Amino acid sequence: RKREFKRLVDEPSVTQDGVRVELAANIGNPDDARVALENGAEGIGLYRTEFLYMGRNELPSEEEQFAAYKAVAALFGMNHPVVIRTLDIGGDKELPYMDMPKEMNPFLGYRAIRLCLDRTDIFKTQLKAILRAGVYGNIKMMYPMIATLQELRAANKVLEEVKQELSAANIPFNDAMEVGIMVEIPSVAVLADQFAKEVDFFSIGTNDLVQYTMAADRMNEQVSYLYQPFNPAVLRLVQHVIDAAHAAGKWVGMCGEMAGDLTAIPILLGMGLDEFSMSAGSILPARSLIRQLNQQDMGRIAKTVLAMDSAEAIKAFVEREVPLIT
Ligand code: PEP
Ligand code: MG
Repeated sequence: RKREFKRLVDEPSVTQDGVRVELAANIGNPDDARVALENGAEGIGLYRTEFLYMGRNELPSEEEQFAAYKAVAALFGMNHPVVIRTLDIGGDKELPYMDMPKEMNPFLGYRAIRLCLDRTDIFKTQLKAILRAGVYGNIKMMYPMIATLQELRAANKVLEEVKQELSAANIPFNDAMEVGIMVEIPSVAVLADQFAKEVDFFSIGTNDLVQYTMAADRMNEQVSYLYQPFNPAVLRLVQHVIDAAHAAGKWVGMCGEMAGDLTAIPILLGMGLDEFSMSAGSILPARSLIRQLNQQDMGRIAKTVLAMDSAEAIKAFVEREVPLIT
């Protein structure tokens, strides 16, 4: 089985009826990038930059970040996109040197883009490093935990300021970098048509989208029965996001755990997802599956499951219709 997967490292992720998708990797540090390539990643769909900020005593400098981003971009080259997510600290991820307030509900609190729009000093340093690294590869930038259009516009305004500062200092950077957002808060999924007009792409973060849609903490075992990626409410949101993006001519990826789940892949393929980003080890099994599927058939399966009324029924149906996955 392993040897059979290895054969697929340089093969395209293409269905039986010729629909090509991108299988990308989620990484946390530059070393993971090499492992991703060895496992056939066609890009990086999520570079979680918080690891650069963790396990140390002070914020990483612009130069330090620039070196880390540049290393990954250079490794992947111009043909393979690397999506760098701006800082997503807070929630479950704390920084000892930041003195963050204790909160009743950290997952609903001061984190990610909320913190970055408040601490624009931290945000600007990172934006500069990302824009500069964009000269050396195919980097795209993505904001986490966007909840409103106003936040997206505020983040883009800071980005414009940073570009002006770099220009004024004659520092080279990629002025044409694509900017997207994570879709991980239900408000954004619902208003996806409005957001689609103001972004270059979406990446659906199901780890959080499921937790916020179901009001079930992703870390809490006692409510894990409610943490249902296959709940039809979640699946309808995902379909809505994909349709809204495509209607605006934008591409959509997914970088939550669901993207690498062999039972979810047939549904997501049928819904029209363009990019699947997962842990490196999931890429070749996913590619093997996708190469045996027919996208049109999966479209019919996706349509059918969106009318079903429970996660259990949906999973059982897909496992019956697509025996390859079990
Ligand atoms: C997500 O929420 O799905 C996601 C990919 O981000 P993280 O797991 O880092 O919160
Ligand atoms: Mg998230």
